[in-house]
Amino acid sequence: MTEIISCQDVIYAFSKDNRPIKTVAPGSQITIETYDCFQNQIRSNNTEINSIDWERINPATGPIFIETAQPGDILSVKIDRIELANEGVMAVGPNLGVMGGRIEHFEAKIIPIQNNKAIFNDTIQIPLNPMIGVIGVAPSGDPVSCGTPGSHGGNMDTKLITTGATLYFPVFVEGALFALGDLHAAMGDGEIGVSGIEIPGKVTVTLDVIKGHSLKNPVLISEEGIATIVSAQTLDEAVKTSVEEMIDLLLPHTDLTLNHLTMVMSAIGQTQISQVVDPLVTARFFVPKWFLDAYHIHLFQ
Ligand code: CA
Ligand code: ZN
Repeated sequence: MTEIISCQDVIYAFSKDNRPIKTVAPGSQITIETYDCFQNQIRSNNTEINSIDWERINPATGPIFIETAQPGDILSVKIDRIELANEGVMAVGPNLGVMGGRIEHFEAKIIPIQNNKAIFNDTIQIPLNPMIGVIGVAPSGDPVSCGTPGSHGGNMDTKLITTGATLYFPVFVEGALFALGDLHAAMGDGEIGVSGIEIPGKVTVTLDVIKGHSLKNPVLISEEGIATIVSAQTLDEAVKTSVEEMIDLLLPHTDLTLNHLTMVMSAIGQTQISQVVDPLVTARFFVPKWFLDAYHIHLFQ
C-alpha cells in the first residue's frame, strides 16, 4: 500500500531545522499531495495582486525523513506518477519574468484541463507536459526559500522532471528532508512569463538512499538520457558547471581521454535552459541514453 502524504504540512523554505512530517525507510513508495505554487489562492480571473498572500508562495509538501540517509550520500527519487487537478492557473505582472518590464498590470488566468489538454481558449489547446517545479532536500547551511533553486534542488523548474525520470540529490543533512510541490501541467524551457500552468496534484515517488557515491548538484536520468542540473547567478556559470560536472561524472566510466570525451560531448551533448526567471537561473547539460549504453554505464551502483 502506498501511503498518502497530505498537503496540510508544507514548507516555504528547505531547511535543516524543518521538523519531518513523516519518516520512511529507503525503498519506500509514497504519494505526496501538493498545492499549486500560489497555495490554491487564485480561483478566478479577477484575482487582484493585493488579495494574494505572497508569504504563502511555492509551498512544498514535507519534509520527509528518509532513514539511513547521511550527509555525503545520494538520495534517489524516482517519479512514478504525476496526477493533476482539473484546473490550472497562470499569472503575469510588472517586474515578473522576461516580459516584466513591459507588462503593465497583474493578470491571472484560470486554465481548465480537459482530455489531456490545457484549454487556454477555443483556439489554443496546449498539450500537457506534467512536471514538478520544486523538488529537493534540505541544504546544510542557511534555509533556502522554496522559490530559489540550488545544489539541494528546490525551484529548478526543469521540464525533464517528469514521470519516469529519476533524480539524484546530494544529501546534506541526516534523513535528507525531502519535499516537493509546484506542479505544472505544461511549461516551456525558460518559463519566461514566471509561471507554468500552475496546478495542484499528487506525485508518487520511490525514495532510496545510495551509499558510497556523492554529488555536488542534482542529476536526472530518464529513458531518454542523463542531465546535470545546475543553478547559478548567471546562465554562463550554470552552463559551464553543468558541462564540467557531466564530464567528471562520465569520464571514469569510459576509455576516453579528457580531450576525446570533450569532442564527443561537443558532438552529442545538449546545453539546455531550464528557467531564467527565478532568483538563480537553471541550466542543464543533457547526454542521450545511447552514450551510457555504449559504455554499459550504470551510475551510482
Ligand atoms: Ca516554480
Ligand atoms: Zn510553478
